[in-house]
Amino acid sequence: MTTEQLGTEEEWARAVKALEGATEVCLACHIRPDGDALGSMLAVAHALRARCAAPGFAPARIVASFGDLPFEIPRILNFLPGTDLLSPPDTFPERPQVMVTFDAASSDRLGLLEPSAAAAAELIVLDHHASNTRFGTVNLIDDAAAATAVLAFELVSRLGVTLSRDIALGLYAGLVTDTGSFKYSNTSAGVHELAAQLLQTGIEPGAVAHELWDRSPFGFLGLLSTVLGRARLEPDAVAGHGLVWTTVTRDDRAAHGLPYEAAESVIDVVRRADEADVAVVLKEDDDGCWQVSARSKGQADVAAACVALGGGGHRLAAGFTANGPVADVMTALRRQLAIVSAPAGGR
Ligand code: 5GP
Ligand code: MN
Repeated sequence: MTTEQLGTEEEWARAVKALEGATEVCLACHIRPDGDALGSMLAVAHALRARCAAPGFAPARIVASFGDLPFEIPRILNFLPGTDLLSPPDTFPERPQVMVTFDAASSDRLGLLEPSAAAAAELIVLDHHASNTRFGTVNLIDDAAAATAVLAFELVSRLGVTLSRDIALGLYAGLVTDTGSFKYSNTSAGVHELAAQLLQTGIEPGAVAHELWDRSPFGFLGLLSTVLGRARLEPDAVAGHGLVWTTVTRDDRAAHGLPYEAAESVIDVVRRADEADVAVVLKEDDDGCWQVSARSKGQADVAAACVALGGGGHRLAAGFTANGPVADVMTALRRQLAIVSAPAGGR
């Protein structure tokens, strides 16, 4: 991977200089964090701690958070080392000297931490979304990177920190989350090479996979049964490439005693339907908003559709937030999906 792909050499140098000179470094990842957002941030938090402990470096205070209140660390990410380093957003500095954001394509994805980002003297944006709005003073963005963890690894290396197991575990969680365990089309030789380096620190890939994908409370089985039972297939949608979709409501979750995060993996089952290029899940959060997840098998640019509806993401995996009746959200989404798809039967 060339440094040009990762951002200019000057930007990397500026980021490292800012981090090494700071007495306080504030880290933030996107709201409702996934493994890439939280894993990358915790990896860099561990690396900065190690850097500060090295001779010749002044100890800096490290703050790490994300902008959700109530401040809840997703249960499936609790196994990550360093969750004890996290603090809620209401104690986050209002005007950080140096702030770093992880996996956030735009500043609104920082939720309650957006004002701190706007007021930060130096704002380093680490991300891999093509839709990134470059809202930092230093933008380290590479849409060819499979995960923000790839960029976080580069940052850790440039800080001159030796890869520890704790750092590697955060990065590995990011890499496997965003490649769907090395299944998605963003999986490359480089991804496997990075994974190999990370595994050399002693991480157990089976244990990570178990935490991330292979466990849930019993109630999840009932939730799946309900929401898959109401899934709809629309063969004519997405310019004839097909759409499959369902909803996960607050009531569904309440009936099975499940938190919002239980809805996150439903898309991975819904997307299996061969007859549909695009899969969509509308997840009702605890505030009653729809968090919409969209996935494509290749015929539609779901990022373009989601950006048009105020969201963001990648070509094959994107999302947006919406309010109002399901029928209205779906009507708006169907219209966008028809526009951003190659005509069926065309090349
Ligand atoms: P997921 O469906 O797994 O939540 O998200 C898939 C991709 O879409 C991720 O890259 C995520 O950052 C992006 N995404 C999901 N929801 C939103 C949203 O409400 N706003 C924006 N800007 N991006 C989103
Ligand atoms: Mn990511």
